[in-house]
Amino acid sequence: MLKIGLTGGIGSGKTTISGIFRVLGSPVFDADREAKLIMETDAGLISNIKKTFGEESYTNGKVNKPYLANIVFNNPAKLDTLNALVHPATIAAANKWMNDQQTPYVIKEAALMFETGSVSNLDYVVGVHAPQHVRIQRVMDRDNIDREQVLLRMSRQIDEIIKMKLCDFVISNNEQQLLIPQVLQLHARFIDMSFQKKSNSGA
Ligand code: ATP
Repeated sequence: MLKIGLTGGIGSGKTTISGIFRVLGSPVFDADREAKLIMETDAGLISNIKKTFGEESYTNGKVNKPYLANIVFNNPAKLDTLNALVHPATIAAANKWMNDQQTPYVIKEAALMFETGSVSNLDYVVGVHAPQHVRIQRVMDRDNIDREQVLLRMSRQIDEIIKMKLCDFVISNNEQQLLIPQVLQLHARFIDMSFQKKSNSGA
């Protein structure tokens, strides 16, 4: 089975595209959604977060978002500390989940992939590219936030051009090229590559 990463800047269209892969029958691990879940279910992680940021990090078993956001919002070192706790737990959950799947390939969707080192366990990475002005407008519309808030979120991710150069495949989601044919082409390619991998390994 092939393990495929799907990444791209904020608002590039990762979730939209992973939805198409899902429809084609390929399971998707949404790392950002899972990370939020793990923060409320992984006892070891909860204990480490409380030890590092204080008991107030949780109220009635739920993450105290305003409290934690206030701590990490304008303090990159604290954000790094929180990420250093959450990312390894999410990566471990993703690896376990991927190993349990039976399809020719699986998708792991994550906004931060090269940044967290989680690529090391993947066979290939697909980048989703959209011009910055399009991404800004999409996120403003989707999340009802202003341009400055989007730019702040973007500043925490590595440069889009560098990110795309690190990817093995790139999907253009610039609203000029059709998305579905691009995804179908990759789907066929991954199935092919998965069978090749299987026959090379003698399985
Ligand atoms: P984030 O990193 O913030 O989670 P994302 O990369 O997952 O974002 P999406 O949520 O898939 O991006 O897309 C952002 C917004 O843009 C959504 O509201 C989505 O419906 C819209 N969008 C994405 N691609 C297209 C497209 N090709 N045409 C029109 N709207 C699109």
